[in-house]
Amino acid sequence: MDSYDYEGCCEWNYRLGKLWDSTRASLSANFPRASFVKVVEYQSRGALHTHCIVRIPLREGIVSGLGARKILDVARSTVTRTGLTWGNQGDCTPIRQIAEQDKFVRYMAKMLTYVTKDSDVLHHETPPQAAQHYRRLDWTARHMHCDKCRHMERPCLSLCHRRWGARSSVMSKSREAKKHRAWSSVRRMDLKQRRIEFAQEAARLGIAIEVLAKLTAAKRKLRQAEDYSPVLIE
Ligand SMILES: [Zn+2]
Repeated sequence: MDSYDYEGCCEWNYRLGKLWDSTRASLSANFPRASFVKVVEYQSRGALHTHCIVRIPLREGIVSGLGARKILDVARSTVTRTGLTWGNQGDCTPIRQIAEQDKFVRYMAKMLTYVTKDSDVLHHETPPQAAQHYRRLDWTARHMHCDKCRHMERPCLSLCHRRWGARSSVMSKSREAKKHRAWSSVRRMDLKQRRIEFAQEAARLGIAIEVLAKLTAAKRKLRQAEDYSPVLIE
């Protein structure tokens, strides 16, 4: 554990978004109609790992095996301004969306599992040695110097200090454009609008329940008063 590069790990997590942006730009230059959906997943050592589906229309004229190799070559040759590159463990497998629909759906499901994996971890016991490793990662991330630290008073409230350096969203996808279809008809702003409407509805419902509870309590009081009020017999 002493030999583990905690600073390097947090730095990798912090800069990964920039590496992905550069990679996406290089891929788009080579495959203009390509669209992407990407998921990042924490590996058990705390470093982020990226999974991505690149959708390339058949009219781009690539041969499936060669296309996968080219994607990998483009990704591997991408270097950010700070000199960050992908590791040499990258892999790229061709999936034909129509002919191998099951395989495509399975991979999408796998990616969604990566998104929900973090919350699942909370339900399991962490071995003491791993817990110590994560505490050191926590400490390193809290004390790392992010781009915003320079402009803010201490303590810096950036998310990266609480997420082992990570700052990009867990999942991202290409927007719908003339060149390619959307991955989903649901947009983030639609989801945001639905959340607002749900909260408003819940608040309205909350108020309605409160009013109903007050009315019921008042009714009960009235009934009790009626039950015990003296009856005048003349
Ligand atoms: Zn900061």
